Formats: sequence, C-alpha cells, structure tokens
Amino acid sequence: MNILNIIEKKKNKEELSNEEIKYVVDGFVSDKIKDYQMSSLLMAIVINGMTDEETFSLTDAMLNSGDVMNLKRINGVKIDKHSTGGVGDKTSFVALPLAASAGVKIAKMSGRGLGFTGGTIDKLESISGFKTSIGENNFFSQVNNIGIALVSQSNDLVPADKKIYALRDVSGTTESIPLIASSIMSKKLASGSDKIILDVKVGKGAFMKKLEDAKKLAELMVKIGKNAGKETIAFLTNMDYPLGRTIGNGLEVEEAIKTLKGEGDTTFLDLCIEEASYMVKLAKGISIEEAKKIVKSNYENGLGYKKFEELIMAQDGNINDICVESNKVEIFAQESGYISDIDTLKLAELVSSLGAGRKTKDDIINHGVGLILNKTYGEEVKKGDILAFVCTKDNINISDYEKSFIINKIRPNKLKMIYEIIK
Ligand code: URA
Repeated sequence: MNILNIIEKKKNKEELSNEEIKYVVDGFVSDKIKDYQMSSLLMAIVINGMTDEETFSLTDAMLNSGDVMNLKRINGVKIDKHSTGGVGDKTSFVALPLAASAGVKIAKMSGRGLGFTGGTIDKLESISGFKTSIGENNFFSQVNNIGIALVSQSNDLVPADKKIYALRDVSGTTESIPLIASSIMSKKLASGSDKIILDVKVGKGAFMKKLEDAKKLAELMVKIGKNAGKETIAFLTNMDYPLGRTIGNGLEVEEAIKTLKGEGDTTFLDLCIEEASYMVKLAKGISIEEAKKIVKSNYENGLGYKKFEELIMAQDGNINDICVESNKVEIFAQESGYISDIDTLKLAELVSSLGAGRKTKDDIINHGVGLILNKTYGEEVKKGDILAFVCTKDNINISDYEKSFIINKIRPNKLKMIYEIIK
C-alpha cells in the first residue's frame, strides 16, 4: 500500500477500504506517514467526506491504536455520557450522580478543556484535594462500591486521535463531520462502557453552529455506536446561551451542588433530569416514564446530592472548599426590557482570557475566575440592574461586555432546550 495512492483515491472521491484506512492510521501513529501527507489526506476528507463504512473503519482503527478499557470487573450496566462541549456545561455533575443514585454504574474518563469550552477534569480540580487519577484498582472498586468514579483519561487511550487531532487543529481540518464523529466515538468506545449517551450541543456557544450539521453529527455517532454493538442515544441541545447561571471551573461545581440541593436554574435542571433518566432507562431496560419517576424522586429526596458528596469524598475532595474568586466586578443593564440575546461566545472568551481556559495544553489555569449570570435569556430587567458578576481581580473594560446582553421591549420566545433525541 502507498499513502500517495490513498491520497489520490480520496482526492478523486473514491471510497477507501478498511485496510487502507488502517494502514493510514497505523502508519501515522508510527511516524511512517508524515504530517504533510496526513494533512493532505485530511483535507481531501474534509472536502470529499467519508461514507459510513469508511467512518466505521476510521473509528475502529483509531480505537485500536492504544489501550481499550475492559470494565468487566465492574458489576452492572456501565453507561458513559459525553458532551460535545458548550459554555457553562456542568450537566455531568448533576446528571451523573442522579443516575448513579438510581443504580447506574458510571466509570467515566474525561478530558481537560482546550479553547473556550471547559473540561470536566479542570472543573473537578477546583475542589480542594480532589484526585483525578486514582489508579485502575481503586477506579474499579470505587465504581463497584458507590456506583461512580470520575477520573482523567489515560494518555494510552486512543493515541491516534491525539496525534490526528493535534494536526487537524493546525491544518484547517477540524470541520468535518466524519472526522469529528470518529474522534469522539473512538474515545467513547475505548473507554469500555456498555451504552453511551451523547449530548450534541448546537448554537452560538457550541462547536456546531447549525442544527442540520449537529443532527448529521449526532446521527453518525449513534450509527457508529450501534455498529460497534453499543446502544447509543444522542441529545441535540441548545447552546445559544450559557447553560445554567455560571461559566468557570469552581463556579460551575458550586452551581451543580446548588442544583442538586434544589436551588438551581430550572431550565438547566430539566436537561439534567432528562439525560439522567435516559441513562437509567438504558441501564435498567425500563420505560422513560418509569426512569424519570425514579430520577425525580432521587432529586427531591436528596439522594442525587448525597451521591455527589460521596463521589467527592471517595476521591479525597473537600466539598466545602471549592476555589472561587471572591472579588466581583458588576455588569449593569443599560436599558429596561427583556434579555432577548446574549453573546455567549464573547462571555466564554472573557472567562477563558481571565485564566479559566488554556491556549496551549501546558497553560496553568485559574480555577476561581468566571462569570455569574444574575439575569439570563428571556428575563425582565430594569435599567441599572446587575446582569452579571465577573469573578476576577483583573481590570476589565465592563462596557465591552454590557453590549453582550441584547435587551428588547418584547419578551422573547421561551427557550427550547432539547431539539431532538436521536436513537
Ligand atoms: N471533540 C473531539 O474529541 N474531537 C473532535 O474532533 C471534536 C470535538
């Protein structure tokens, strides 16, 4: 086999075979195929696409490029959840304990954030003492004992994705549905859970800006999961506005705790209950109505919160000591009316620039900084009301961010959070 012939084939819109795709992935991981050859092939894929069969082969070749977790030592049905990333997305911290409190086994490996979206592991590290690496034996026994563990993803999982993703990032080849789907699903499948729930975010604060593209991505990932023999469900959810009321590592953990205690934003809570219910449904093989009843009851009787507390304690964290910057700068409403739009990306970039996110993978992040929305989409405000608090010691030009909130005299439509559930 020859890489130049393979590039030529893809350039001419021909379908690559399973063997050819495996040859490319193995060759690139072992440095036999060079960056310039791989980026040329990736660009041909961006332009000419991939068939479903090619995407299955690519996922499989990437998945088998490193360790594949075997979770057989954990009893029960293991469910994984993955979000394609959004602004203020702390859904996992609410949905996963709720599902675990209902008996779902969650052995979750997560990543760090890069760019404007935060990573689950960075957020957890805002909890004093919390360990995100606990060793394989502890990981298994913790999930067997309390039903849930959240740890950072091993470097040996899907090395092909790390290498290909880094090249895509610097070669203008990130925007391809088959490349994104195989990148995400290879990691999910390598993590070893039995069934998978995906939350594909769409809108101004997400990777996917258009609903039709997000739907194609969601459908493709569901097909990849099923092709690998794992039941997979994808939520298509609204990411036009920050999720909940906070953006920033420690602030988001605090908000998740408030939500589990019954003091959170109801739109955000509804999404968490919906996702947790599907996890319970998949794990127990019951109807969604029955699953929702269990999840709602565990939310109301505090079992979901207790499970989160148990998880933090099991991984040596102190739930009463979360890093949050106490110095706050206020953003005020410049007129009266209803918040009809928010420049979500601009707010996310502000929080990231304060130190909550990374520009390169070696940057040290600030867990305490962030933004609290005092008012959000659809809410009425009076001129002079506080719209948001920016938690920082830095000097920032607040007038730049006052314009991030569009205030209109007419009340906007109610937010639709879940567009569709793809099974
Ligand atoms: N997340 C991933 O893991 N891979 C992509 O390609 C895009 C988002």
